[in-house]
Amino acid sequence: MTLINENYANLQSSYLFANIARKVAEFQKSHPDADIIRLGIGDVTRPLAPAVIEAMHKAVDEMGHEETFRGYGPEQGYEFLRQAVVDHDYKPLGINIDIDEVFISDGAKSDVGNIQELFSADNIIAITDPVYPVYLDSNVMGGRSGKFKGDRFENIVYLPTNAENNFSPEFPDRRVDIVYLCCPNNPTGTVLSRKRLKEWVDWCKANETVLMFDSAYEAFISSEDTVHSIYEIEGAREVAIEFRSFSKTAGFTGTRCAYTAVPKELTVNTADGQKQALNPMWNRRQCTKFNGVPYIIQRAAEAVYSEDGHRQTREAIAYYKENARIIREGLTAIGLTVFGGVDAPYIWLKVPAGMTSWDFFDLLLEKVNIVSTPGAGFGPCGEGYLRLTSFGSRENTLRAIERIKTLKF
Ligand SMILES: *Cc1c(COP(=O)(O)O)cnc(C)c1O
Repeated sequence: MTLINENYANLQSSYLFANIARKVAEFQKSHPDADIIRLGIGDVTRPLAPAVIEAMHKAVDEMGHEETFRGYGPEQGYEFLRQAVVDHDYKPLGINIDIDEVFISDGAKSDVGNIQELFSADNIIAITDPVYPVYLDSNVMGGRSGKFKGDRFENIVYLPTNAENNFSPEFPDRRVDIVYLCCPNNPTGTVLSRKRLKEWVDWCKANETVLMFDSAYEAFISSEDTVHSIYEIEGAREVAIEFRSFSKTAGFTGTRCAYTAVPKELTVNTADGQKQALNPMWNRRQCTKFNGVPYIIQRAAEAVYSEDGHRQTREAIAYYKENARIIREGLTAIGLTVFGGVDAPYIWLKVPAGMTSWDFFDLLLEKVNIVSTPGAGFGPCGEGYLRLTSFGSRENTLRAIERIKTLKF
């Protein structure tokens, strides 16, 4: 008799995006003429940079000639791209990361999920609340959640992250083995200060806890008081794995390329008390289960670091950041309390008193035909908040704010 992985039965259905899609579809059906503006999407909309397209075309042509054709590449990624990562993402920050500490992949989402194979199912996990759902669901699948009771999993440690603590969670009040931090944050759009991140690294070191640091939105940072890489913090090489992606940095959400840094100093314990380095384990895992990112895509990613590629991708980021400013300032002007949107493409706003996340979502949809994302969908502490994104067009962003300004709360 074949048995299933019972952990999957613990997964909570993702009501969030399915519910949003259903509500929008129903509204559209009953209001066929409504001009709906979508500010709920977590996906980029600007096209790939010309330099990236050019590099891709060139790589496609190489694949069509016997002399330059490529078959299987290195599982960890081509050296040209790993070297570009080291030279452009780390060296300018004064960080020494070796090329064999960088693993190219098809996405930070897959890496965040896959990395758990290196850890015992008995490890205790801490996540912020609200949270990017992948950290949670992948651990549920891995058998680390326990049962869902009320509105939380019994074995997961939730770290409330809200206006009361200035979006800087307290340390866990019990033993945790792995903690996930996303900075700049999805969904709140906020960042943790350099000082606080140093405290986190020290805490992880003192408690022998591994820090999973997701900096998918690094390219949006303009504040001085946060880090572009966790390895800017002294001691982080001993505790942190860093996930980076070309998805939001360079519009690669549909092109697929990311990387994960696993420093050689990072060790965890074996059952008999030995220290085991994670870098060779991750290398083994990738070599066994992954055959690398396509050559064409890695050449495209390399072009992000070229002079033209860099300038062009920065233009797209600036475009989104200007949208974020328009949303932030527009909402502030009508008396709403907003967070984020400075170092991230997300604006996290407090819904008017007396309303829930979903109440305000409904109001925006029905009264001004704007699609948003209710904060409650990202965790219990997201209740009372709503996420808007800056990934829309300039025109729609401006129109959306003009519409919201007509509302009376
Ligand atoms: C978009 C996003 C990523 C990127 O995932 P990819 O699989 O590389 O596209 C990673 N983390 C967070 C929090 C994100 O929002």
